[in-house]
Amino acid sequence: MTLAEIEQLLQQSVDRALGALAGAKSADELESCRVQYLGQKGFLSQAKKSVGQLPTVDDKKKAGKLANDADARLGKAYDEHKQRIEAAAREAELAERWDVTLPGRRALRGRRHPLTVTADDILDVLGALGFVRAEGPEIEHDWYNFEALNVPRDHPARDMQDTFYIDDDVVLRTHTSPVQVRAMLAIGKPPIRVACYGRVYRNDHDITHSPMFHQVEGLYVDGSVTFGDLKGTLQVFVERIFGAKSKVRLRPSFFPFTEPSVEVDVSCFSCNGTGSGGATVGDDGRCRLCKATGWIEIMGAGMVDPEVLRFGGLDPDKLTGFAFGIGVERVAMLRWGVSDIRLFFENDRRFLRQF
Ligand SMILES: [Zn+2]
Repeated sequence: MTLAEIEQLLQQSVDRALGALAGAKSADELESCRVQYLGQKGFLSQAKKSVGQLPTVDDKKKAGKLANDADARLGKAYDEHKQRIEAAAREAELAERWDVTLPGRRALRGRRHPLTVTADDILDVLGALGFVRAEGPEIEHDWYNFEALNVPRDHPARDMQDTFYIDDDVVLRTHTSPVQVRAMLAIGKPPIRVACYGRVYRNDHDITHSPMFHQVEGLYVDGSVTFGDLKGTLQVFVERIFGAKSKVRLRPSFFPFTEPSVEVDVSCFSCNGTGSGGATVGDDGRCRLCKATGWIEIMGAGMVDPEVLRFGGLDPDKLTGFAFGIGVERVAMLRWGVSDIRLFFENDRRFLRQF
């Protein structure tokens, strides 16, 4: 070929090759174009071979430059189009798998269980009053659960609590009170001011009783703890848990491990202690929450029985103390108007989400 022929070949073929490259719609089509135009049998190869056969150095230079320029243009066009095709292929693959325009699915957020919230609130109040946390085992020796709490084996008070026995000497604790004796023995000298939170077990179940439930136990023993201290502590407690207007009322009662013993009532926070109206008013105008009495029973309490102090290794002639036990489920049911205790343990998210 002459210089003019090479020039003509390149002029005609480069445009055609660029057009073909740009028109390739897939990696396969692009590869065929590359083989056809840029491969060893393509026009470019043909032109380059012809350059060497030109008669003069001058012609070789000119033709060589033309061939190299064509090579560079085509190579650049090929690279660019290859990138476009690959990017398009990636997009298509992603679009097939992921619809990025769909709204995201929000991750479920956990929250504290209403019983945990209630127990934490109770423990926060007691913590502010100087009670420190104490713990004991749920599988408990009969001695701690009963005998050291002034309930010997033949004591009729054992019938008050339906106990799960592991064997003759080991029970599932029926209350958090055994921690009283454990704390006295562990701490050894006054002041002893502890709060214990945990599970307790009784063979009893209906809509207000569960065979497993939670208690918070408070114990304060020191040189001159009085019944007035107990009442003051309970008053602060109900104000913090049930609202600033809440009042506390104590009624005589009996527990083997306290003397004297009281049932603790809080003024009804639904009808403000009036017995009528309020959020839980019935058709007859009476408050259903407190059954129109204006008071709600919330816990048992009392002055620690001297025998229990003795079992705890303390001298009842020098020390006095008070103790109280609160049912966490009961407080939670009252606070939020939950009528069935089993709801707390069913883990139904529709229920748990409300707190
Ligand atoms: Zn009421």
